Amino acid sequence: MPRFFVYLCSMKRIENYDLSSHNTFGMKIRCALYIEYETVEELQNLPWKELPQPIMHIGAGSNLLFTGDFPGTVLHSAVKYIKFVDMGLDEVLMTVGAGVVFDDFVARCCEVGLWGAENLSLIPGEVGASAVQNIGAYGVEAKDIIAGVVCLDTTDWSKTIFKTPELAYGYRDSMFKHAKGRYIVTSVLFRLTRKYSPKLDYGGVRAALEGRDLTALTPADVRDAIIGIRRAKLPDPAEKGSAGSFFKNPVISREHFERIEAVAASHAAAGSPAPSVPHFDLPDGTVKVPAAWLIDSLGFRGAVNGGAKVYEKQPLVIVNESGSATPEEIMALEQDIISKIRETYGIELHPEVEHI
Ligand SMILES: Cc1cc2nc3c(=O)[nH]c(=O)nc-3n(C[C@H](O)[C@H](O)[C@H](O)COP(=O)(O)OP(=O)(O)OC[C@H]3O[C@@H](n4cnc5c(N)ncnc54)[C@H](O)[C@@H]3O)c2cc1C
Repeated sequence: MPRFFVYLCSMKRIENYDLSSHNTFGMKIRCALYIEYETVEELQNLPWKELPQPIMHIGAGSNLLFTGDFPGTVLHSAVKYIKFVDMGLDEVLMTVGAGVVFDDFVARCCEVGLWGAENLSLIPGEVGASAVQNIGAYGVEAKDIIAGVVCLDTTDWSKTIFKTPELAYGYRDSMFKHAKGRYIVTSVLFRLTRKYSPKLDYGGVRAALEGRDLTALTPADVRDAIIGIRRAKLPDPAEKGSAGSFFKNPVISREHFERIEAVAASHAAAGSPAPSVPHFDLPDGTVKVPAAWLIDSLGFRGAVNGGAKVYEKQPLVIVNESGSATPEEIMALEQDIISKIRETYGIELHPEVEHI
């Protein structure tokens, strides 16, 4: 029996595998080989050089747009555990396997009354990718609760533990994104707190809790509010394929922002007041402009290209409306949006969704 097979027989290993249920766009694409491992040792023992190349690791495929069949090997973690490792009076440390559904981890934290993860409720995907992506929502980012990340370094298969400051976290960014394919996240160490610390000042969270005694809130109350807000404006991947926010919010200089205000004013209907352009002033003097507003201002909300559509409830999201949209249809809509925003506002939008 070839060594290859002996190593792999305890894992899921399927050739010419259909990845439709492993990407939230629901793209009907295939990979040459799919391997799902249950232990880190199985991953370490893979005959790397004998596997169809290239090799990529996925989570739930909720930030990916496969642009065609993948010719190589797709790896997926089924390492699933949630363990409490240190229960301090205030702080609690938890170690979580990379294959755990991120929202299951959040639900567990909320069930036991721990603060820190509740604003990240209902973000699709798995724990391994949360540390790669530095996921964020409602004023909280994964980096705020990550204490460390355990990885395998694929250059020598050594176990490497990174502390959070070593991971160069930024807006949907981390060191992992700049060392593509080198590290495989096997588990993440999270730091939560028992101390009452709700964050309610973003995206209508406070309004959703109106009438409640805010001093008596639990993490589960905040989680419920966030789930309600998200369900009202984001497509459920089980019902409508998407990868969430398709574009990053651009950051521009103040002078550039003033030019955009002028362009927006010049587009206002005669006699109407100039629209106010939503924005966030950043500490370094630059300005972050919501990509959703830019897209909406050019009339793209609800725009259709074949089976792909700009989601009516949130124009930052492109959905697989028909259920059978092709990557080309999605990318044509993407390019149309990028070029119209460039022409009108001189802003270069960058996709948040990773194209494979
Ligand atoms: C409806 C919807 C709403 C969303 N809302 C948000 C939101 O509010 N905030 C937000 O930040 N994101 C959001 N997203 C995007 C997405 O949920 C996140 O980017 C998520 O972290 C992706 O996780 P995943 O497991 O699906 O990873 P994938 O999409 O499968 O992979 C993402 C990247 O991580 C890498 N990766 C995956 N697992 C590992 C591993 N174990 N080791 C090393 N690399 C790995 C992959 O190679 C890839 O580069 C949303 C997506 C959808 C569909």
